[in-house]
Amino acid sequence: MLRWHLVDTHCHIDTPAFDDDRPSVIQRASDARIGLINSGISLTSNLATRELLQHENVYAAYGLSPLNVAEKESVEEFIRRNADSATAVGEVGLDFYHVKSGHQREQQENAFEQFIRLSQELGLPLVIHSRDAEERVFELVHGVDQAIYHCYGGSVELLEKIVDCGHYISISTRVCRSGHHQKLVEKAPRDMVVIETDSPYLAARKGRNEPSFVRDAIVTISQVWDTEIEEAASIVAENTCRAFNLG
Ligand SMILES: [Zn+2]
Repeated sequence: MLRWHLVDTHCHIDTPAFDDDRPSVIQRASDARIGLINSGISLTSNLATRELLQHENVYAAYGLSPLNVAEKESVEEFIRRNADSATAVGEVGLDFYHVKSGHQREQQENAFEQFIRLSQELGLPLVIHSRDAEERVFELVHGVDQAIYHCYGGSVELLEKIVDCGHYISISTRVCRSGHHQKLVEKAPRDMVVIETDSPYLAARKGRNEPSFVRDAIVTISQVWDTEIEEAASIVAENTCRAFNLG
């Protein structure tokens, strides 16, 4: 059983958007019995993520954005040294939206493969970032033991292949306003869905997103599933336990 009612499986609370009120944002989540997994994307943000572990409802995913591949050696070393405090390796992955040149895409793939191997070696779940690169990402990770596709927005066909590998789909608060994401929720097996805010991005409300708003996604998911909100919440919480080995 999870100690939290819900977990925001992916957010960036270390970013400047929270500099004025970070402790209150984390407290609001805690008051609502919401845990959060903060995701590092660089050496600096992995360090900041580790600092956030002083809050009892915060978990750490240490990773590397595909746009920061120059830091791959220092980030790998950081993760090895801090593996005991890590809940996952990630986010890591491919971003072909921002990077068009073949050479740079190859560098992203090399870094991604390095971190896939690291997550396997450390026995940690892999949190995947994929933008305009879903098919290639799938080819690289389909054999991995434990993986979560953060902010999945790809096709239904690929979703079916992903869940067949035993990998999880993380649905963001974007689902509240997106028919495509609602369709993904409808098609995904209910035991393979986790949720996230990707805070400070992707708010279903006006302005900045924050972990306590992850409940917005549950409200929409419960409508798609035609269940009570609390039932949807408990299904997703169980999935989160399994996906991230949370007790
Ligand atoms: Zn992210």
